[in-house]
Amino acid sequence: MHEMAIAQGILDIVLAAAAEHDAAVVRRIKLRVGEMTEVEPDALRFCFAALAADTPAAPAELDIEVVPLAGRCQDCQCEFAVARYRFFCPVCGSADVEIISGRELQVEHLEVD
Ligand SMILES: [Zn+2]
Repeated sequence: MHEMAIAQGILDIVLAAAAEHDAAVVRRIKLRVGEMTEVEPDALRFCFAALAADTPAAPAELDIEVVPLAGRCQDCQCEFAVARYRFFCPVCGSADVEIISGRELQVEHLEVD
């Protein structure tokens, strides 16, 4: 399951950060998750809760911000939201599009006690 591997990666980061700050409990984890990762927030919460049981991150609430997919045309430099994975510039029709957001998967902020 896709979300299980991602949840494990997040837990590793969170537990390392908690240990570094001598935190007994992690209260809240703010995540930025790109649309392109195709992470289902509810599935991610479920997997995280299962993996985090018996760790300092067990009571943590996941605050998940989904970052929409956006591209930049390499021909006319316009930036646009990519809907339904159609990587074509809406202005000039070019297919030479660079993805500028929507692939992120990062722990942005932690609240610990
Ligand atoms: Zn263009």
